[in-house]
Amino acid sequence: MAEKMDKIISLAKRRGFIFPSSEIYGGFGGVYDFGPLGFELKQNIKEVWLRTMKSQENIVPLDSAILMNPKVWQASGHLTAGFADELVECKSCHKRFKTDEIKGNKCPECGGEITKPKKFNLMMKTFVGAVEDEAAVTYLRGETCQGIYVNYLNILNLMRLKIPFGVIQIGKAFRNEVNPKNFIFRTREFEQMEMEWFCESKEAAHFFDFWKEQRMKWYEDLGMKKENLRIVEIPEGKRAHYAKKQIDIEYHFPFGWKEIEGIHNRGDFDLSNHAKHSGEDLRYFDEESGQKYFPHIIETSVGVERALFAFFCDAYQEIKGGRTKTTKAVKEVEILLKLDKSLAPIKVAVLPLVRNKPKLVKKAKEVYQMLKPHFTCQYDELGSIGRRYRRGDEIGTIAAITIDFETLEKEDVTIRDRDSMAQKRIKIKDLTKTLKEKLKA
Ligand code: ATP
Repeated sequence: MAEKMDKIISLAKRRGFIFPSSEIYGGFGGVYDFGPLGFELKQNIKEVWLRTMKSQENIVPLDSAILMNPKVWQASGHLTAGFADELVECKSCHKRFKTDEIKGNKCPECGGEITKPKKFNLMMKTFVGAVEDEAAVTYLRGETCQGIYVNYLNILNLMRLKIPFGVIQIGKAFRNEVNPKNFIFRTREFEQMEMEWFCESKEAAHFFDFWKEQRMKWYEDLGMKKENLRIVEIPEGKRAHYAKKQIDIEYHFPFGWKEIEGIHNRGDFDLSNHAKHSGEDLRYFDEESGQKYFPHIIETSVGVERALFAFFCDAYQEIKGGRTKTTKAVKEVEILLKLDKSLAPIKVAVLPLVRNKPKLVKKAKEVYQMLKPHFTCQYDELGSIGRRYRRGDEIGTIAAITIDFETLEKEDVTIRDRDSMAQKRIKIKDLTKTLKEKLKA
């Protein structure tokens, strides 16, 4: 399966999805940049997530800061053992490994002797202000949800919400991962899409199941193959420090089953701890019963890049012979990135049949300008038309519009569908409407 990973990584780089950060300086461990197509794909994932979440009752968005008062991280347990990996170090090559990655007591890389396990905190430290002393230390957030907890009262009161309600946020998170690996699976800088659902304790179990189903449905509705998705319940002792119940949604990556999203019943851990540390009363006043209580929280938390990686792997197909009927192509392996239409980074490609006929090029550019305000489009005139179709298939482009000599006489174009490769002619005046229909979510 290492071979499949290599092919996926190579496609992601070759076609402008993902680059190692600071590549001209040799890269920077565990950090990646998203190129033009990666940006579009990431953006689409975030948009679909937001749209799906907002379609539920009682959900409001938030954009809180990456930097926070360091007391937040004290209260949340992130500065203590709660957010630490247990590590061992090889006494010979000095490489560090998570304890659970080591079988036996030898370094997996060089066979050297290894040290006793030591806790290693994952928070990224930084300084704020002019003086770099202990008083100026703060952290880049390790998760986005803390911004939601500390704004909970503001949101509750100012938006005049009643329990149950949810707050959603998308934003950067940073973790000083010791062993970033598997391409963008585990990185030091990433984005999270989190939802914190505030409810009564007696309803927590019900909402846990509700959100579990909703989140599984999200992946399936976006075309992720059912056989590549599974739910794993995390037993006590292995759960995050705040979780009373936890399931992971796992995806079958080429390197094995791995978590893409965590769903947690956090109980009243967060609000009661923040109340204790801040001195603010963060309890909810229930008008009907006249009682005050800490709401319980159900959380859904997914990394944008991890979800992107899973969608990318799932969509990646190699088709040997027969997809394209031209004799040359039959012998070749064709790559198809069968992303859902809402995720595909480029929706429409506009292609003049040949590029050395100025009239065709002019017409194609007119069509491109007409479509550009409505869809993410690409204009491509290099190489044979067959090659260009396949370049589009490789990045998941949904529709290819070809401008040929007939276009000049009849004001119509050919529209080719990525998956069926069916082609039909459409009048230019009807093209925008037809494409909107085709791309409708
Ligand atoms: P893992 O066990 O893989 O380190 P975690 O259980 O610590 O993940 P959570 O703290 O529950 O992860 O974070 C929620 C989600 O954020 C994860 O399911 C994953 O999608 C994403 N995530 C967490 N850490 C990273 C990382 N280092 N790189 C990319 N995404 C991450």
